[in-house]
Amino acid sequence: MNVSTTATIEPSFRQSVDMMFNRAAALMDLPPGLEEKIRVCNSTYTVRFGVRLRGGVQTFTGYRAVHSEHTEPVKGGIRYAPNVHQDEVEALAALMTYKCALVEAPFGGSKGGLCIDPRHYDADELEKITRRFAYELIKRDLINPSQNVPAPDMGTGEREMAIIADQYARMNTTDINARACVTGKPPHAGGIQGRVEATGRGVQYALQEFFRHPEDVAKANLSGKLDGKRVIVQGLGNVGYHAAHFLSTEDGCKVTHVIERDGAIEDQNGLDIAVLRDWIAKHGGVKDCPFGTYHKDGVAVLEGECDILIPAALEGVINMGNAARIQAPLIIEAANGPITAGADEILRHKGCVIIPDLYANAGGVTVSYFEWVKNLSHIRFGRMQRRQEESRHQLLVDELERLSADTGTGWTLSPNFKQKYLRGAGELELVRSGLDDTMRDAYQSMREVWWSRDDVTDLRTAAFLVAIGRVAAAYQAKGI
Ligand code: NAD
Repeated sequence: MNVSTTATIEPSFRQSVDMMFNRAAALMDLPPGLEEKIRVCNSTYTVRFGVRLRGGVQTFTGYRAVHSEHTEPVKGGIRYAPNVHQDEVEALAALMTYKCALVEAPFGGSKGGLCIDPRHYDADELEKITRRFAYELIKRDLINPSQNVPAPDMGTGEREMAIIADQYARMNTTDINARACVTGKPPHAGGIQGRVEATGRGVQYALQEFFRHPEDVAKANLSGKLDGKRVIVQGLGNVGYHAAHFLSTEDGCKVTHVIERDGAIEDQNGLDIAVLRDWIAKHGGVKDCPFGTYHKDGVAVLEGECDILIPAALEGVINMGNAARIQAPLIIEAANGPITAGADEILRHKGCVIIPDLYANAGGVTVSYFEWVKNLSHIRFGRMQRRQEESRHQLLVDELERLSADTGTGWTLSPNFKQKYLRGAGELELVRSGLDDTMRDAYQSMREVWWSRDDVTDLRTAAFLVAIGRVAAAYQAKGI
Protein backbone atom coordinates (compact mmCIF):
# COMPACT_ATOMS: atom_id res chain seq x y z
CA MET A 1 0.00 0.00 0.00
CA ASN A 2 1.37 3.41 -0.98
CA VAL A 3 1.18 5.67 2.07
CA SER A 4 3.76 8.24 1.05
CA THR A 5 2.98 11.85 1.89
CA THR A 6 6.21 13.60 0.90
CA ALA A 7 8.05 13.83 -2.40
CA THR A 8 11.79 13.46 -2.92
CA ILE A 9 11.57 13.06 -6.70
CA GLU A 10 8.87 14.56 -8.91
CA PRO A 11 5.84 12.27 -8.73
CA SER A 12 3.48 11.56 -11.62
CA PHE A 13 0.12 13.36 -11.66
CA ARG A 14 -1.69 10.36 -10.18
CA GLN A 15 0.99 9.86 -7.53
CA SER A 16 0.68 13.56 -6.69
CA VAL A 17 -3.05 13.26 -6.12
CA ASP A 18 -2.50 10.09 -4.06
CA MET A 19 0.13 11.82 -1.91
CA MET A 20 -2.19 14.74 -1.24
CA PHE A 21 -4.92 12.23 -0.38
CA ASN A 22 -2.53 10.33 1.93
CA ARG A 23 -1.54 13.51 3.73
CA ALA A 24 -5.16 14.08 4.71
CA ALA A 25 -6.06 10.41 5.28
CA ALA A 26 -3.16 10.14 7.78
CA LEU A 27 -5.03 12.67 9.95
CA MET A 28 -8.25 10.63 9.88
CA ASP A 29 -9.42 7.64 11.76
CA LEU A 30 -10.83 5.54 8.93
CA PRO A 31 -11.76 1.87 9.40
CA PRO A 32 -8.99 -0.53 8.24
CA GLY A 33 -8.81 -0.83 4.47
CA LEU A 34 -11.32 1.90 3.68
CA GLU A 35 -8.59 4.44 2.97
CA GLU A 36 -7.17 2.26 0.19
CA LYS A 37 -10.63 1.47 -1.20
CA ILE A 38 -11.35 5.18 -1.55
CA ARG A 39 -7.94 6.04 -3.03
CA VAL A 40 -7.74 3.45 -5.82
CA CYS A 41 -9.27 3.97 -9.25
CA ASN A 42 -12.03 1.37 -9.71
CA SER A 43 -11.56 0.80 -13.44
CA THR A 44 -10.12 2.29 -16.60
CA TYR A 45 -11.36 1.32 -20.02
CA THR A 46 -9.01 1.81 -22.98
CA VAL A 47 -10.45 1.96 -26.46
CA ARG A 48 -8.65 1.92 -29.80
CA PHE A 49 -10.82 2.62 -32.80
CA GLY A 50 -10.41 3.47 -36.45
CA VAL A 51 -11.96 6.35 -38.37
CA ARG A 52 -11.90 6.69 -42.16
CA LEU A 53 -10.30 10.08 -42.79
CA ARG A 54 -8.47 11.78 -45.64
CA GLY A 55 -8.48 8.68 -47.85
CA GLY A 56 -7.15 6.30 -45.17
CA VAL A 57 -7.95 4.90 -41.75
CA GLN A 58 -6.60 6.62 -38.64
CA THR A 59 -6.50 4.80 -35.31
CA PHE A 60 -7.21 6.73 -32.12
CA THR A 61 -6.73 5.79 -28.45
CA GLY A 62 -9.15 6.93 -25.78
CA TYR A 63 -9.81 6.27 -22.09
CA ARG A 64 -12.63 6.44 -19.59
CA ALA A 65 -11.59 5.99 -15.96
CA VAL A 66 -14.10 5.44 -13.17
CA HIS A 67 -12.52 6.30 -9.84
CA SER A 68 -15.35 5.86 -7.36
CA GLU A 69 -18.94 4.66 -7.60
CA HIS A 70 -19.95 5.44 -4.01
CA THR A 71 -22.66 7.56 -5.66
CA GLU A 72 -23.90 7.17 -9.23
CA PRO A 73 -23.86 8.37 -11.88
CA VAL A 74 -20.16 9.08 -11.97
CA LYS A 75 -19.14 12.35 -13.54
CA GLY A 76 -16.12 13.89 -15.23
CA GLY A 77 -15.00 15.64 -18.37
CA ILE A 78 -13.61 14.32 -21.62
CA ARG A 79 -10.29 15.84 -22.63
CA TYR A 80 -8.86 16.02 -26.14
CA ALA A 81 -5.08 16.41 -26.02
CA PRO A 82 -2.19 14.66 -27.76
CA ASN A 83 -0.52 13.52 -24.54
CA VAL A 84 -3.58 12.06 -22.74
CA HIS A 85 -2.64 8.84 -20.95
CA GLN A 86 -3.99 6.43 -18.35
CA ASP A 87 -2.15 7.94 -15.38
CA GLU A 88 -3.58 11.37 -16.23
CA VAL A 89 -7.22 10.30 -16.65
CA GLU A 90 -7.01 8.29 -13.41
CA ALA A 91 -5.62 11.30 -11.53
CA LEU A 92 -8.35 13.52 -12.99
CA ALA A 93 -11.04 10.93 -12.16
CA ALA A 94 -9.83 10.80 -8.54
CA LEU A 95 -9.97 14.60 -8.33
CA MET A 96 -13.56 14.43 -9.60
CA THR A 97 -14.54 12.11 -6.75
CA TYR A 98 -13.17 14.50 -4.12
CA LYS A 99 -14.43 17.61 -5.93
CA CYS A 100 -18.01 16.30 -6.16
CA ALA A 101 -17.94 15.30 -2.50
CA LEU A 102 -16.63 18.72 -1.46
CA VAL A 103 -19.32 20.68 -3.30
CA GLU A 104 -22.03 18.11 -2.51
CA ALA A 105 -22.77 17.22 -6.12
CA PRO A 106 -24.27 13.71 -5.95
CA PHE A 107 -21.77 12.02 -8.25
CA GLY A 108 -18.87 9.61 -8.13
CA GLY A 109 -15.68 10.53 -9.99
CA SER A 110 -14.78 9.72 -13.58
CA LYS A 111 -12.75 11.20 -16.44
CA GLY A 112 -12.12 10.50 -20.08
CA GLY A 113 -9.58 11.43 -22.65
CA LEU A 114 -8.77 11.03 -26.32
CA CYS A 115 -5.19 11.24 -27.65
CA ILE A 116 -5.70 13.85 -30.33
CA ASP A 117 -4.67 17.40 -31.12
CA PRO A 118 -8.06 18.86 -32.09
CA ARG A 119 -6.35 21.78 -33.85
CA HIS A 120 -5.20 19.35 -36.55
CA TYR A 121 -8.74 18.37 -37.60
CA ASP A 122 -11.62 20.31 -39.14
CA ALA A 123 -15.13 20.40 -37.65
CA ASP A 124 -16.50 17.57 -39.82
CA GLU A 125 -13.56 15.31 -39.02
CA LEU A 126 -13.89 16.04 -35.30
CA GLU A 127 -17.57 15.14 -35.47
CA LYS A 128 -16.77 11.77 -37.08
CA ILE A 129 -14.08 11.03 -34.48
CA THR A 130 -16.27 12.17 -31.55
CA ARG A 131 -19.24 10.06 -32.72
CA ARG A 132 -17.04 6.97 -33.03
CA PHE A 133 -15.46 7.52 -29.58
CA ALA A 134 -18.89 8.14 -28.05
CA TYR A 135 -20.24 4.96 -29.70
CA GLU A 136 -17.49 2.89 -28.04
CA LEU A 137 -18.25 4.36 -24.61
CA ILE A 138 -22.08 4.32 -24.94
CA LYS A 139 -22.29 0.64 -25.89
CA ARG A 140 -20.46 -0.16 -22.64
CA ASP A 141 -22.64 2.18 -20.53
CA LEU A 142 -19.62 4.40 -19.98
CA ILE A 143 -21.90 7.19 -21.15
CA ASN A 144 -25.37 6.88 -19.63
CA PRO A 145 -27.65 9.33 -17.74
CA SER A 146 -27.83 7.10 -14.68
CA GLN A 147 -24.34 5.65 -14.76
CA ASN A 148 -21.69 7.89 -16.30
CA VAL A 149 -22.18 11.48 -17.42
CA PRO A 150 -19.26 13.23 -19.19
CA ALA A 151 -18.73 16.99 -19.62
CA PRO A 152 -16.26 19.23 -21.46
CA ASP A 153 -12.62 19.57 -20.47
CA MET A 154 -9.48 20.74 -22.20
CA GLY A 155 -9.88 20.65 -25.99
CA THR A 156 -13.62 19.93 -25.91
CA GLY A 157 -16.66 22.17 -25.56
CA GLU A 158 -20.36 22.55 -26.34
CA ARG A 159 -20.06 21.15 -29.85
CA GLU A 160 -18.52 17.84 -28.81
CA MET A 161 -21.06 17.48 -25.97
CA ALA A 162 -23.97 18.07 -28.39
CA ILE A 163 -22.55 15.39 -30.72
CA ILE A 164 -22.20 12.92 -27.83
CA ALA A 165 -25.80 13.61 -26.73
CA ASP A 166 -27.05 13.09 -30.27
CA GLN A 167 -25.09 9.84 -30.63
CA TYR A 168 -26.55 8.56 -27.34
CA ALA A 169 -30.09 9.48 -28.46
CA ARG A 170 -29.60 7.61 -31.76
CA MET A 171 -28.49 4.49 -29.89
CA ASN A 172 -31.20 4.78 -27.20
CA THR A 173 -34.24 5.97 -29.10
CA THR A 174 -36.76 5.30 -26.30
CA ASP A 175 -34.76 6.76 -23.40
CA ILE A 176 -36.75 9.82 -22.34
CA ASN A 177 -33.78 11.01 -20.25
CA ALA A 178 -31.30 10.74 -23.11
CA ARG A 179 -30.26 14.39 -22.87
CA ALA A 180 -28.99 13.85 -19.34
CA CYS A 181 -26.26 11.51 -20.67
CA VAL A 182 -23.79 14.40 -20.95
CA THR A 183 -23.54 17.98 -19.70
CA GLY A 184 -22.00 21.12 -21.14
CA LYS A 185 -24.32 20.99 -24.15
CA PRO A 186 -25.32 24.24 -25.87
CA PRO A 187 -28.57 25.74 -24.47
CA HIS A 188 -30.44 24.99 -27.73
CA ALA A 189 -29.52 21.30 -27.43
CA GLY A 190 -30.56 20.65 -23.84
CA GLY A 191 -27.84 22.66 -22.12
CA ILE A 192 -28.20 25.28 -19.43
CA GLN A 193 -27.50 29.01 -19.36
CA GLY A 194 -24.21 29.81 -17.68
CA ARG A 195 -22.46 26.43 -18.18
CA VAL A 196 -19.77 27.72 -20.54
CA GLU A 197 -18.67 30.41 -18.07
CA ALA A 198 -19.27 28.22 -14.99
CA THR A 199 -15.75 27.09 -14.12
CA GLY A 200 -14.26 30.57 -14.55
CA ARG A 201 -17.22 32.09 -12.72
CA GLY A 202 -16.62 29.59 -9.91
CA VAL A 203 -12.98 30.72 -9.68
CA GLN A 204 -14.24 34.30 -9.32
CA TYR A 205 -16.77 33.31 -6.62
CA ALA A 206 -14.06 31.33 -4.80
CA LEU A 207 -11.79 34.39 -4.70
CA GLN A 208 -14.68 36.64 -3.64
CA GLU A 209 -15.40 34.27 -0.75
CA PHE A 210 -11.71 34.08 0.24
CA PHE A 211 -11.50 37.89 0.34
CA ARG A 212 -14.60 38.06 2.58
CA HIS A 213 -12.37 36.72 5.37
CA PRO A 214 -9.62 39.18 6.33
CA GLU A 215 -7.93 36.57 8.57
CA ASP A 216 -7.61 34.19 5.61
CA VAL A 217 -6.34 36.99 3.39
CA ALA A 218 -3.74 37.83 6.06
CA LYS A 219 -2.47 34.24 5.96
CA ALA A 220 -1.41 34.99 2.38
CA ASN A 221 0.32 38.19 3.53
CA LEU A 222 -2.25 40.20 1.62
CA SER A 223 -4.81 42.73 2.80
CA GLY A 224 -7.90 44.51 1.55
CA LYS A 225 -10.34 43.42 -1.10
CA LEU A 226 -9.98 41.95 -4.58
CA ASP A 227 -10.08 45.44 -6.08
CA GLY A 228 -6.67 46.41 -7.45
CA LYS A 229 -5.05 43.00 -6.97
CA ARG A 230 -2.47 42.12 -9.62
CA VAL A 231 -3.13 38.80 -11.32
CA ILE A 232 -1.11 36.46 -13.56
CA VAL A 233 -3.13 33.94 -15.57
CA GLN A 234 -1.78 30.92 -17.42
CA GLY A 235 -4.03 29.65 -20.23
CA LEU A 236 -6.71 31.84 -21.79
CA GLY A 237 -9.04 28.96 -22.70
CA ASN A 238 -12.51 28.39 -21.32
CA VAL A 239 -11.59 28.50 -17.64
CA GLY A 240 -8.76 31.05 -17.77
CA TYR A 241 -10.62 33.45 -20.04
CA HIS A 242 -13.80 33.60 -17.99
CA ALA A 243 -11.95 33.87 -14.67
CA ALA A 244 -9.67 36.65 -15.97
CA HIS A 245 -12.51 38.47 -17.73
CA PHE A 246 -14.86 38.49 -14.72
CA LEU A 247 -12.12 39.38 -12.22
CA SER A 248 -10.95 42.31 -14.33
CA THR A 249 -14.34 43.66 -15.42
CA GLU A 250 -16.37 43.02 -12.24
CA ASP A 251 -13.94 42.91 -9.30
CA GLY A 252 -11.38 45.55 -10.24
CA CYS A 253 -8.43 43.14 -10.54
CA LYS A 254 -5.58 43.97 -12.89
CA VAL A 255 -4.55 41.03 -15.05
CA THR A 256 -0.95 42.04 -15.70
CA HIS A 257 0.22 38.87 -17.51
CA VAL A 258 -1.38 36.19 -19.62
CA ILE A 259 0.74 33.13 -20.38
CA GLU A 260 -0.14 31.08 -23.44
CA ARG A 261 1.49 28.22 -25.37
CA ASP A 262 3.82 30.53 -27.32
CA GLY A 263 4.88 32.92 -24.56
CA ALA A 264 3.36 35.60 -22.36
CA ILE A 265 2.01 39.10 -22.74
CA GLU A 266 2.40 41.77 -20.07
CA ASP A 267 0.70 45.07 -19.35
CA GLN A 268 1.16 46.43 -15.82
CA ASN A 269 -1.94 48.62 -16.29
CA GLY A 270 -4.08 45.54 -16.81
CA LEU A 271 -4.81 43.67 -20.05
CA ASP A 272 -8.17 43.88 -21.81
CA ILE A 273 -8.98 40.18 -21.64
CA ALA A 274 -11.81 40.12 -24.20
CA VAL A 275 -9.69 41.95 -26.78
CA LEU A 276 -6.72 39.67 -26.05
CA ARG A 277 -8.84 36.57 -26.48
CA ASP A 278 -10.07 37.75 -29.87
CA TRP A 279 -6.46 38.36 -30.91
CA ILE A 280 -5.43 34.85 -29.81
CA ALA A 281 -8.42 33.30 -31.60
CA LYS A 282 -7.40 35.06 -34.83
CA HIS A 283 -3.63 34.69 -34.63
CA GLY A 284 -3.20 31.44 -32.69
CA GLY A 285 -1.08 32.88 -29.87
CA VAL A 286 0.22 35.97 -28.10
CA LYS A 287 3.38 36.48 -30.14
CA ASP A 288 3.25 39.76 -32.10
CA CYS A 289 0.30 40.85 -29.97
CA PRO A 290 0.19 44.69 -30.05
CA PHE A 291 -1.38 45.18 -26.59
CA GLY A 292 1.61 44.74 -24.30
CA THR A 293 5.16 43.47 -23.87
CA TYR A 294 5.85 39.99 -25.21
CA HIS A 295 7.93 37.47 -23.23
CA LYS A 296 9.12 34.41 -25.12
CA ASP A 297 9.62 32.30 -21.99
CA GLY A 298 6.05 31.96 -20.74
CA VAL A 299 6.88 29.43 -18.02
CA ALA A 300 9.28 31.90 -16.37
CA VAL A 301 6.41 34.40 -16.09
CA LEU A 302 4.75 32.06 -13.57
CA GLU A 303 7.51 33.20 -11.22
CA GLY A 304 6.65 36.88 -11.67
CA GLU A 305 5.59 39.33 -8.99
CA CYS A 306 1.81 39.45 -8.44
CA ASP A 307 -0.85 39.11 -5.75
CA ILE A 308 -2.73 36.18 -7.27
CA LEU A 309 -1.46 33.51 -9.64
CA ILE A 310 -4.09 31.58 -11.63
CA PRO A 311 -2.74 28.54 -13.45
CA ALA A 312 -5.61 27.63 -15.80
CA ALA A 313 -4.00 25.43 -18.44
CA LEU A 314 -2.16 22.23 -17.61
CA GLU A 315 -1.13 19.98 -14.77
CA GLY A 316 2.36 19.98 -13.25
CA VAL A 317 3.36 23.50 -14.35
CA ILE A 318 4.45 24.42 -10.82
CA ASN A 319 6.81 21.67 -9.83
CA MET A 320 9.92 20.95 -7.79
CA GLY A 321 11.95 22.74 -10.47
CA ASN A 322 10.35 26.17 -10.12
CA ALA A 323 8.32 26.15 -6.87
CA ALA A 324 11.02 27.85 -4.81
CA ARG A 325 11.08 30.79 -7.25
CA ILE A 326 7.30 31.35 -7.32
CA GLN A 327 6.62 34.77 -5.79
CA ALA A 328 2.80 34.76 -5.72
CA PRO A 329 1.52 34.78 -2.13
CA LEU A 330 -1.83 33.34 -3.26
CA ILE A 331 -2.38 30.70 -5.94
CA ILE A 332 -5.80 29.56 -7.06
CA GLU A 333 -5.70 26.29 -8.99
CA ALA A 334 -8.15 26.88 -11.83
CA ALA A 335 -6.60 23.98 -13.76
CA ASN A 336 -6.57 20.45 -12.39
CA GLY A 337 -3.28 19.50 -10.75
CA PRO A 338 -1.16 22.52 -11.78
CA ILE A 339 0.95 22.13 -8.61
CA THR A 340 2.73 18.81 -8.04
CA ALA A 341 2.83 17.27 -4.56
CA GLY A 342 6.53 18.17 -4.27
CA ALA A 343 5.89 21.80 -5.23
CA ASP A 344 2.94 21.94 -2.88
CA GLU A 345 5.25 21.13 0.01
CA ILE A 346 7.81 23.77 -0.99
CA LEU A 347 5.11 26.43 -1.39
CA ARG A 348 3.45 25.57 1.91
CA HIS A 349 6.75 26.00 3.72
CA LYS A 350 7.19 29.38 2.04
CA GLY A 351 3.81 30.47 3.45
CA CYS A 352 2.05 30.62 0.08
CA VAL A 353 -1.71 30.06 0.36
CA ILE A 354 -3.09 27.66 -2.24
CA ILE A 355 -6.81 27.50 -3.01
CA PRO A 356 -6.90 23.90 -4.25
CA ASP A 357 -8.24 22.61 -7.57
CA LEU A 358 -10.84 20.30 -6.04
CA TYR A 359 -12.53 23.43 -4.73
CA ALA A 360 -11.38 26.18 -7.09
CA ASN A 361 -12.55 24.70 -10.37
CA ALA A 362 -15.65 22.93 -9.03
CA GLY A 363 -17.93 25.52 -10.68
CA GLY A 364 -18.01 23.44 -13.83
CA VAL A 365 -19.31 20.28 -12.21
CA THR A 366 -21.69 22.31 -10.04
CA VAL A 367 -23.46 23.82 -13.05
CA SER A 368 -23.24 20.46 -14.82
CA TYR A 369 -25.20 19.09 -11.87
CA PHE A 370 -27.86 21.78 -12.46
CA GLU A 371 -27.96 20.88 -16.16
CA TRP A 372 -28.37 17.16 -15.39
CA VAL A 373 -31.24 17.95 -12.99
CA LYS A 374 -32.82 20.21 -15.63
CA ASN A 375 -32.60 17.42 -18.23
CA LEU A 376 -34.16 14.88 -15.86
CA SER A 377 -36.95 17.23 -14.83
CA HIS A 378 -37.57 18.28 -18.46
CA ILE A 379 -38.21 21.89 -17.50
CA ARG A 380 -36.14 25.04 -17.49
CA PHE A 381 -35.30 26.49 -14.08
CA GLY A 382 -37.54 29.44 -13.20
CA ARG A 383 -40.22 28.64 -15.78
CA MET A 384 -42.96 28.08 -13.19
CA GLN A 385 -42.04 30.84 -10.73
CA ARG A 386 -40.68 33.78 -12.68
CA ARG A 387 -43.86 35.65 -13.66
CA GLN A 388 -45.55 34.87 -10.35
CA GLU A 389 -42.55 36.36 -8.54
CA GLU A 390 -42.69 39.43 -10.79
CA SER A 391 -46.41 40.00 -10.15
CA ARG A 392 -45.92 39.76 -6.37
CA HIS A 393 -43.12 42.32 -6.55
CA GLN A 394 -45.32 44.53 -8.75
CA LEU A 395 -48.04 44.37 -6.07
CA LEU A 396 -45.62 45.69 -3.46
CA VAL A 397 -44.31 48.48 -5.72
CA ASP A 398 -47.90 49.54 -6.58
CA GLU A 399 -48.81 49.59 -2.90
CA LEU A 400 -45.76 51.69 -1.94
CA GLU A 401 -46.53 54.17 -4.73
CA ARG A 402 -50.19 54.36 -3.65
CA LEU A 403 -49.13 55.03 -0.03
CA SER A 404 -46.73 57.73 -1.17
CA ALA A 405 -49.47 59.40 -3.22
CA ASP A 406 -52.13 59.04 -0.48
CA THR A 407 -49.92 60.43 2.28
CA GLY A 408 -48.46 63.12 0.06
CA THR A 409 -44.88 62.32 1.09
CA GLY A 410 -43.71 62.51 -2.50
CA TRP A 411 -41.40 59.49 -2.03
CA THR A 412 -40.59 57.72 -5.26
CA LEU A 413 -38.76 54.51 -5.96
CA SER A 414 -35.70 54.99 -8.13
CA PRO A 415 -36.11 53.57 -11.67
CA ASN A 416 -32.96 51.48 -11.15
CA PHE A 417 -34.41 49.89 -7.99
CA LYS A 418 -37.75 49.25 -9.68
CA GLN A 419 -36.17 47.67 -12.72
CA LYS A 420 -33.99 45.34 -10.65
CA TYR A 421 -36.66 44.50 -8.08
CA LEU A 422 -39.42 43.80 -10.58
CA ARG A 423 -37.35 41.39 -12.65
CA GLY A 424 -38.06 37.76 -11.69
CA ALA A 425 -35.11 35.37 -11.74
CA GLY A 426 -34.53 33.57 -15.05
CA GLU A 427 -32.38 30.52 -15.58
CA LEU A 428 -29.07 32.39 -15.72
CA GLU A 429 -29.73 34.27 -12.46
CA LEU A 430 -30.74 31.03 -10.74
CA VAL A 431 -27.68 29.18 -12.02
CA ARG A 432 -25.38 31.95 -10.81
CA SER A 433 -27.13 32.06 -7.45
CA GLY A 434 -26.83 28.27 -7.05
CA LEU A 435 -23.18 28.38 -8.04
CA ASP A 436 -22.37 31.23 -5.66
CA ASP A 437 -24.14 29.44 -2.83
CA THR A 438 -22.22 26.22 -3.56
CA MET A 439 -18.84 27.96 -3.68
CA ARG A 440 -19.53 29.82 -0.42
CA ASP A 441 -20.73 26.69 1.39
CA ALA A 442 -17.84 24.54 0.21
CA TYR A 443 -15.35 27.24 1.25
CA GLN A 444 -16.94 27.36 4.70
CA SER A 445 -16.62 23.60 5.11
CA MET A 446 -12.88 23.75 4.24
CA ARG A 447 -12.33 26.85 6.32
CA GLU A 448 -13.87 25.33 9.40
CA VAL A 449 -11.32 22.50 9.28
CA TRP A 450 -8.45 24.86 8.40
CA TRP A 451 -9.08 27.08 11.41
CA SER A 452 -10.24 24.50 13.95
CA ARG A 453 -7.51 21.86 13.69
CA ASP A 454 -3.89 22.47 14.73
CA ASP A 455 -2.71 19.64 12.49
CA VAL A 456 -4.25 21.21 9.37
CA THR A 457 -2.26 24.14 8.04
CA ASP A 458 -3.45 24.39 4.45
CA LEU A 459 -6.70 24.53 2.50
CA ARG A 460 -5.87 21.51 0.34
CA THR A 461 -5.58 19.16 3.30
CA ALA A 462 -8.76 20.68 4.72
CA ALA A 463 -10.57 20.10 1.40
CA PHE A 464 -9.39 16.48 1.24
CA LEU A 465 -10.45 15.89 4.86
CA VAL A 466 -13.97 17.10 4.13
CA ALA A 467 -14.21 15.16 0.85
CA ILE A 468 -12.74 11.88 2.11
CA GLY A 469 -15.00 12.06 5.18
CA ARG A 470 -18.08 12.34 2.96
CA VAL A 471 -17.02 9.53 0.60
CA ALA A 472 -16.18 7.32 3.60
CA ALA A 473 -19.59 8.04 5.12
CA ALA A 474 -21.29 7.10 1.83
CA TYR A 475 -19.42 3.77 1.65
CA GLN A 476 -20.14 3.02 5.30
CA ALA A 477 -23.83 3.83 4.91
CA LYS A 478 -24.43 1.68 1.86
CA GLY A 479 -21.93 -1.12 2.39
CA ILE A 480 -19.25 -2.04 -0.13
P1 NAD B 1 -9.17 24.90 -22.91
O1 NAD B 1 -8.69 23.90 -23.91
O2 NAD B 1 -10.39 25.67 -23.19
O3 NAD B 1 -8.02 25.97 -22.61
C1 NAD B 1 -6.70 25.64 -22.29
C2 NAD B 1 -5.87 26.88 -22.57
O4 NAD B 1 -4.54 26.65 -22.12
C3 NAD B 1 -5.79 27.21 -24.06
O5 NAD B 1 -5.95 28.60 -24.24
C4 NAD B 1 -4.40 26.74 -24.44
O6 NAD B 1 -3.86 27.44 -25.55
C5 NAD B 1 -3.65 27.01 -23.16
N1 NAD B 1 -2.42 26.20 -23.06
C6 NAD B 1 -2.22 24.94 -23.46
N2 NAD B 1 -0.96 24.57 -23.22
C7 NAD B 1 -0.36 25.62 -22.63
C8 NAD B 1 0.92 25.85 -22.12
N3 NAD B 1 1.87 24.92 -22.22
N4 NAD B 1 1.19 27.06 -21.57
C9 NAD B 1 0.23 28.02 -21.50
N5 NAD B 1 -1.00 27.85 -21.96
C10 NAD B 1 -1.31 26.67 -22.51
O7 NAD B 1 -9.26 24.09 -21.54
P2 NAD B 1 -10.14 24.45 -20.26
O8 NAD B 1 -11.43 23.76 -20.40
O9 NAD B 1 -10.07 25.90 -20.00
O10 NAD B 1 -9.33 23.65 -19.13
C11 NAD B 1 -8.16 24.19 -18.52
C12 NAD B 1 -7.91 23.47 -17.21
O11 NAD B 1 -9.07 23.59 -16.38
C13 NAD B 1 -7.67 21.96 -17.32
O12 NAD B 1 -6.78 21.57 -16.30
C14 NAD B 1 -9.03 21.37 -17.05
O13 NAD B 1 -8.96 20.02 -16.57
C15 NAD B 1 -9.53 22.31 -15.98
N6 NAD B 1 -10.99 22.32 -15.82
C16 NAD B 1 -11.82 22.63 -16.86
C17 NAD B 1 -13.20 22.66 -16.65
C18 NAD B 1 -14.16 23.08 -17.73
O14 NAD B 1 -15.36 23.25 -17.41
N7 NAD B 1 -13.74 23.30 -18.97
C19 NAD B 1 -13.73 22.32 -15.39
C20 NAD B 1 -12.84 22.01 -14.35
C21 NAD B 1 -11.48 22.02 -14.59
